[in-house]
Amino acid sequence: MEAKRVKKRRIVLVPVPAQGHVTPMMHLGKALYAKGFSITVVLTQYNRVSSSKDFSDFHFLTIPCSLTESDLHTLGPLKFLMKLNPICESSFKNCLSNLLEEQGNDIACVVYDEYMYFSQAAVKEFQLPSVVFSTTSATAFVCRCVLARVNAESFIKDMKDLEAQDKVFPGLHPLRYKDLPTSVFGSLESLHKMYCEVSNVRTASAVIINTASCLESSSLAWLQRELQLPVYPIGPLHIAASAPCSSLLEEDRSCIEWLDKKKPSSVVYISLGSLALMETKDMLEMAWGLSNSNQPFLWAIRPGSIPISEWTESLPEEFSKLVSERGYIVKWAPQMEVLRHPSVGAFWSHCGWNSTLESIGEGVPMICRPFTGDQRVNARYLESVWRIGVLLEGELEKETVERAVKMLIVDKEGEDMRKRAIDLKEKLEASLGSGDLSCSSLDELVNFYKYKIL
Ligand code: UDP
Repeated sequence: MEAKRVKKRRIVLVPVPAQGHVTPMMHLGKALYAKGFSITVVLTQYNRVSSSKDFSDFHFLTIPCSLTESDLHTLGPLKFLMKLNPICESSFKNCLSNLLEEQGNDIACVVYDEYMYFSQAAVKEFQLPSVVFSTTSATAFVCRCVLARVNAESFIKDMKDLEAQDKVFPGLHPLRYKDLPTSVFGSLESLHKMYCEVSNVRTASAVIINTASCLESSSLAWLQRELQLPVYPIGPLHIAASAPCSSLLEEDRSCIEWLDKKKPSSVVYISLGSLALMETKDMLEMAWGLSNSNQPFLWAIRPGSIPISEWTESLPEEFSKLVSERGYIVKWAPQMEVLRHPSVGAFWSHCGWNSTLESIGEGVPMICRPFTGDQRVNARYLESVWRIGVLLEGELEKETVERAVKMLIVDKEGEDMRKRAIDLKEKLEASLGSGDLSCSSLDELVNFYKYKIL
């Protein structure tokens, strides 16, 4: 007898058009697709992901928006998002209205990135269930909620108070004022407004976070209590939903061959993610420190990451000399494969949340040099909660760089840290493998879509 064809329910995903947000959203899409949903991804700009054959099962829609991906880099994320949200509100309503007509009202849920809060107006109008997806850590989410509750004036005053910077922020131990997620890309006033918007999740049915309970149990408990909504830790999604790569930039795989020739756990991998910038002066100190450490290093230098030049052309010749001996440079690396490579012994990172999870997932200790936003929160946690990272603060000097590299890769002093990194990786794997933490959260979420809110 012919099996009856069951129409799949649809989930609409709304990612922020930036690498660190698109990747976990696409992983989530893959996981939900595997659980039997159809997936529609609403983009504000057409990009590589939508044309990738890895996502040929997904349906992509692009809503009209006058901002482009390059505006994200020129304006910086904060100003970009503050402009993008009002622009997209009505076009997203039209998009959902058409989709509802076509799909016969069969949308199970809209999952939107917390920074795409324009989605709220449309889900409210069409009375659709919605879920807020946070691609940062649960602790960074807690910080945003706490800071949104402080009035704007005292927030600005506290953040500017130089004497307060080393003190622990009340209720956020071990985070100090200087670890709080402030932004180099905009004013404190705009940031406070943004935190008020993103922490307002009242219209949503649930919050999902790309994290695991074994990493952030107390922050998750705080959110569960304060938001009065189900909060699901469904990550790390790059492990829980092993999906193909969703890179917005072309990966240079030649570095894998280079890594193949290096000794086990000897290489420092350096990457600052998709948005962080680096001063020429700091790059020189790093190059000196790395060179003096005598360890090989793989450096992903993203085009546009050095102010005033397209790529490395503005760097002095001294830089190329230092790098040529022991280093290998690419514009964009296949990061997950690099971190998994047996030759990699340490990761110098800006501590974006994806990079942090990817490093923890491979048991690689980190050199933490946060640039902005939640990266400071992650760096502080890496250093003083999970204790698998060295946090480099203040002026960057070659001696400090050399010491940090030696400590993580060769010195006895770093042995405990290397061991803790492996222990944490195993703890994370065990929590996923037994299916009782993050995996069961994903199942709970699926049941939530399938049964509770039908
Ligand atoms: N990434 C990559 N190749 C690179 C640098 C980064 O594939 O050369 C990926 C990395 O694996 C991660 C993402 O880009 O998934 C960066 O996200 P993260 O949250 O760490 O930082 P953001 O880019 O948001 O600042």
